[in-house]
Order: sequence, then C-alpha cells, then structure tokens
Amino acid sequence: MEGPRLRRPLTSVPPLPANAMDGAKAVLESARLFRYGEHVPEGTWVARLERAFADHFGTRFAVAVNSGGSAMFLALRSAGVEAGDVVLLNAFTLAPVPGAIEHLGARVVLVDVDENLLVDLEDLEAAIVEHRPKAFLLSHMRGHVADMAGVVALCEAHGVLLVEDCAHTLGASFGGRPTGLFGKAGCFSLQTWKQINAGEGGVIVTDDEDLAARAILASGAYMLHAQHGTPPSEEAIQRWAPHTPNCSMRLNELAAAIALPQLASLEERNAAWRAIYRRLEAGLAGLPNLRIPQTLPDVVHAPTSFQFLAALPAEDLEARLAICAERGVPIKWFGRQHATGFTSVHRHWGYVEARPLPKGDAVLAGLCDIRLPSDLTEEEVATVVAVVRLAFGH
Ligand SMILES: *Cc1c(COP(=O)(O)O)cnc(C)c1O
Repeated sequence: MEGPRLRRPLTSVPPLPANAMDGAKAVLESARLFRYGEHVPEGTWVARLERAFADHFGTRFAVAVNSGGSAMFLALRSAGVEAGDVVLLNAFTLAPVPGAIEHLGARVVLVDVDENLLVDLEDLEAAIVEHRPKAFLLSHMRGHVADMAGVVALCEAHGVLLVEDCAHTLGASFGGRPTGLFGKAGCFSLQTWKQINAGEGGVIVTDDEDLAARAILASGAYMLHAQHGTPPSEEAIQRWAPHTPNCSMRLNELAAAIALPQLASLEERNAAWRAIYRRLEAGLAGLPNLRIPQTLPDVVHAPTSFQFLAALPAEDLEARLAICAERGVPIKWFGRQHATGFTSVHRHWGYVEARPLPKGDAVLAGLCDIRLPSDLTEEEVATVVAVVRLAFGH
C-alpha cells in the first residue's frame, strides 16, 4: 500500500511502570489479596491508594471500590439518592453511567449536549424544572469538561446534588479546580483505558463524612472500616452501620498496588497526552466536513482520546473510516445504527426513557473517536494525521 500507514495498533496498552510490577509481585508473594485483614501491621495497598487520592485532591476522604460504575452507584446512594428518585445525566456518556443510576432503582432523565459535547445549560435548567431531580450525575465523557461555574450555580439554585463522573478526567481542571471537586463527590475509574490502568477499580473522593461512611459500609467493610486510608469518625460509622447493606464492591490489593505508582506519575502521562492531542488538533484543523470540538478557555483537559465531528452522509463517512482502518487508524463512530465497542449511545439503552435531545442527536450522528495510547511517538501522531487527512481531505 502506498502512502501513510500506522504500524502500531492504537489499541495497544503502554507497559506498566516497573514499580507497579514490583508492588504486584509483593502482593502476590504475600498472598494477601483482600483489602482487609485481621493482621495488617503496615497497612494495606488499598488504604495507601485512598490516602494518596485524598492527598492528591486535598479531600478529607477517598474510598476505593471495584469499578468506576460501583463508585458512581455508591456515591449516589451514599449522597441520599433512593429508588424512584430522578437523576439527571448528560446525554453524551458511556453505558456504565446510566447503569449506575438504574442499579439504584432511580430514574435516568437525559439532558441535551451542545455542539462541543458539553452539557447544554439551558436544557439542564429545563430538565431540573420539569423533572425535579434529586441529583445530577455529570459525566465528563471522553474528557470534555463543561462550564462548571454554570453547572454548580444551577445545581445550587435548585437544590440538586451534583456528583461527577471523572472516569476520563483524572488530572483535568476548570478554573484551576480539579474535576471531581465541584459537587458532593467525584468518581474515578482505574479501568485499563483511563489515566490509571489497574484493570478494574474505582475511587470516590469527597469531603462529606456521612457520604464517606455510607460508601465504606455499603462497599462491604465487614466492620473493618478503621483499616481505610481516610477513615471517617466512629460516630459517623455507627450512625449509618445499622441502615447500610453490604453490597460487596471492594477493591483488591493487587489492583491497588498496580494503581498507586501510576497516581504518582500521572502528570507525566497527562503531559504526553496533551501534547499528542495538540498535534492532532493542529494537524487536522481546516479539513472540509470535519470539525474538532472546542475546549473551554477555563479548562485544562487530560485527554486519553480524540474526537472530531464529521458532517457527511453515513455511507460517505463509512467509506472514509474504512480508508483510515485499512491504514492502521481504526476510528469509532457513535452514529452507527448498532452499538459497537465502547460507543453505545442513549438510543441503544432501551431502559432509559426517551426525551428529545435535538442538539445532542445532531452532534452524536457525526461523532468520530480515536483512542490515544499515551506513548504514541511524534512520528506516529504525524502518521495518524496524514491518514485522516488522506481520507477526509477532499
Ligand atoms: C469507563 C467509564 C466509566 C466507568 O468505569 P468502569 O470502571 O468501567 O465501570 C464511567 N464513565 C465513563 C465516561 C467511562 O468512560
């Protein structure tokens, strides 16, 4: 084949740091894979990870759990959302997010998103007024951070609990404030395709002691809550213990040992991701039929992927994406009739009540998505640019 072609798959996973391997080996050698023990003289890896997250964000509490989905379920539950309550959710998100709300027995009401994939504040207000939600679960999907000042103002004015899904924004901020700190709780994922790869895992950060106590109890602490990295007071625990079922959503020691050193080196990877993103953004600027969503001036993002919006009929777009795929650059398309790997959209979630989402539907129809391993070289990024330009340049 003549012309540009990427030799390294974009689905490749960068190697884990050596100290993550060392930690994993130590855990395996100890055979102590469970986060709680009746004899833990130096504390556990999970407790250390919790301490490190709380230090990183300057929050009073961090609670580690077994997935990002569990983190959202537990954060909403522990903030007081109950079965039958309405929870608003921005329409550009991933399936585990409405899943966490459904898991609670709460009702998902979707909110429209604008041409830059950000929650539409006008529709947010309309949905608040119409549906009287208990909470808004704001998903910073694919790292796109909305006008958080506007979101917070609306939630406060209407007494709506705000919980953030930061699965794609570990290291992103708005107006200098990290995502995860704008509402009652911030939820992170340690799944392989996020900023920290532990295979599976999740973390809730919060300053709310009752929320932390409830999340710890519901995660399944077996009354060993004192072994947490940021334990709430015994009084808070006793307040909630009689009323809180054990949902068994704990993180294990192996995942924590792998995650911990990656939090320490987070900024290195985020800097690499930002540089890759900037090169793609510059390289693809000005192509016909292709638009790159804008990042708000107050936002420092932490991108692990790149999106563009194609204004083309389905068949034409499919043909161009096929050219990219042939040249080693697989691009996901959210507009497809049927859900495929990591790209399901709201109309694929039959359990969520339909609501008119005119802006979001228009933008999702042309949304294309490229995964970015953090160790892509400058030359590889240039190849990705060349391939997309070849396919979309006319
Ligand atoms: C991955 C992801 C989640 C959930 O994370 P899991 O750990 O896979 O449950 C939530 N929200 C978004 C936007 C995600 O991409």
